[in-house]
Amino acid sequence: MKLYNLKKKNEIVNFSNAVKLGLGAKQGLFFPKNLPIFSKETIKNLLKKKFVHRSQKILSLLIGSEIKKKIIYSSVKSAFSFSEPKISKIKKNIACCELFHGPTLAFKDYGAKFMAHILSFLNKKKKLITILTATSGDTGAAVAHAFYKMKNIKVVILYPKGKISTIQKKLFCTLGKNIITIAIDGSFDDCQKLVKQSFNDQEIKKYTQLNSANSINISRLLAQICYFFEIFHLIKKKNIVLSIPCGNFGNLTAGLLAKSMGLPIKKLILSTNSNDTIPRFLKEGIWNPYPTISTISNAMDISKPNNWTRVEEIFKRKKWNIKELGYGSVTEKETIKNLKELFKKYKYISEPHASIAYTILKKEIKKEEYGIFLGTAHPIKFKKTVERNLKIKLKKSKIISNLSNLKEFCYNIKPDFKKLKRILIKN
Ligand SMILES: *Cc1c(COP(=O)(O)O)cnc(C)c1O
Repeated sequence: MKLYNLKKKNEIVNFSNAVKLGLGAKQGLFFPKNLPIFSKETIKNLLKKKFVHRSQKILSLLIGSEIKKKIIYSSVKSAFSFSEPKISKIKKNIACCELFHGPTLAFKDYGAKFMAHILSFLNKKKKLITILTATSGDTGAAVAHAFYKMKNIKVVILYPKGKISTIQKKLFCTLGKNIITIAIDGSFDDCQKLVKQSFNDQEIKKYTQLNSANSINISRLLAQICYFFEIFHLIKKKNIVLSIPCGNFGNLTAGLLAKSMGLPIKKLILSTNSNDTIPRFLKEGIWNPYPTISTISNAMDISKPNNWTRVEEIFKRKKWNIKELGYGSVTEKETIKNLKELFKKYKYISEPHASIAYTILKKEIKKEEYGIFLGTAHPIKFKKTVERNLKIKLKKSKIISNLSNLKEFCYNIKPDFKKLKRILIKN
């Protein structure tokens, strides 16, 4: 598989290097040179297979011969067999695809675990690799768990102090060992900026091989393509429309890639919270990010989504019209209103991120369509918001109850690059 840098088109790398580098020159994202199209027959055959087996086929078709099939197959098996996506029917023409049955109860487990296995395989020289990641909530946990105790890999996670839930924090700040966590006195965008700065710093690069396991890493993105296929295996309907709760737009990018490969998704809808840079951009044609606002759907509190350039590239390459994307942003009030509606009217316990996708789906869906919104996190991860608004007590999951007494290991710093650098080089 060959990929090019979106900011420097003559920088071409293979999949292994794209995984190891994360970003290219000028902090450009890598994008596949070939966008393979599967025939109708191939897709029909793929859809008959079980999740893990089908995902092994899809990823080895995409990545090609540069990594042995055996390695891809075993990576997919270890990464995906923990728990498959589940469909919860909400009403006649709407369902939720739950992607949160993995070890950290978020869809990010799929991508992070696949990446961890591939990277660990690629690290043949057994040099120390540092995974440096910014998280607005769920990435941190998924990445920390995926790489926990892996040899020759150190993980450093930055998160905006006070802006993630207690459970999210407990999921990655309590691990210790090869996992280092840093609370930044600022927003997620500040964290992301620090990560980008580190990647440009020659001194850090000399000291350790840096890698970002953010959704900008191509291996995570490719892994996420697989559950879009699973949706079509689980639901045999025509005119399927998907609504995606978007933060950094990795999930949307993966959905669009799946569509580009021939999966018959009728339409994709991007749903955001009040951090609505993209909905405003699509409506007015002007790129004007506002400062990030904190919301109850904190994993989506991002005003400069990294993956947007990839979304634009897909539309350009496929000669699709960007107007075909559905879009909308949802206020806190509406998010809560529909979280309550899902529970009161349909007896479905959801959480703010999925509620946002549900809200826009309801507005956009047409009579002849079947709508699916993605459930990106387990409701227990947003316990306070869910319990307070639905006036219920959530059952504790095993994963969560084991966490509450664990000690947290964490640095606290201002968004100051020099301070971060000291921690990176010291540890
Ligand atoms: C990360 C995350 C999102 C946003 O996903 P992107 O791929 O970054 O757009 C949405 N919901 C939850 C719960 C998340 O953790």
